[in-house]
Amino acid sequence: MSLPFFTEADVLRWFGARELIKAKTYVRSVTRLSAESPELSAFVLGSAPRPYQVKIRFSTNLAGDIVISPHCSCPVQWHCKHTAATLLA
Ligand SMILES: [Zn+2]
Repeated sequence: MSLPFFTEADVLRWFGARELIKAKTYVRSVTRLSAESPELSAFVLGSAPRPYQVKIRFSTNLAGDIVISPHCSCPVQWHCKHTAATLLA
């Protein structure tokens, strides 16, 4: 089983335009990206000296839409630019 297919339009729907714009500047800071279904994980270099650890779990709802459960070790912890950047990467 592989991760579900998603596009930038999905990332926009999950995070909104403001986070998407911020996330784009972080795509190059995403390292050690790995996908092990149903989870995507990576490290993203942010403002702290150590990179933040990002984990995004995928599932689908009853309507068949992809649902994400993002988690990040940064202070925002959840729908942050690091998790959005990981999805874009
Ligand atoms: Zn974060």
